[in-house]
Amino acid sequence: MTKIIEISTKSEFELVNITDQIEKIVREAKVSDGVAVVFTKHTTGAVIINENEAGLLEDIENLLKKLVPKGVGYKHDRIDVNAHSHLKGILLGSSQNIPIAHGELQLGTWQRVFFVELDGPRQRNVLITVIGK
Ligand code: ZN
Repeated sequence: MTKIIEISTKSEFELVNITDQIEKIVREAKVSDGVAVVFTKHTTGAVIINENEAGLLEDIENLLKKLVPKGVGYKHDRIDVNAHSHLKGILLGSSQNIPIAHGELQLGTWQRVFFVELDGPRQRNVLITVIGK
């Protein structure tokens, strides 16, 4: 079963906590043991798992800015002005797999799932595929 989470981002960089929506989809799928695949089709977005702490979320943004500064002569900027967004997306990855046991996502106490907007604001989709029995 695959469901889509629709997200309207409001800024250029944004971390959107989608954990509750994924948990709802997993409950509705009535899968007891399996896996939830969380995947985004976008080349300037990503999916990560980490802690939802305001300071840490700022640290993530600052780290990415430091690793991949804007407009430092990227070739893709000749046809588009968002090479830095694509490159950040490559570092973070477009999907996460989360085990399901006893009908529940097996996230750690502090783990939350985020869609990462890297070139907003935009309309975004995240696909949730639930596999199991
Ligand atoms: Zn581009």
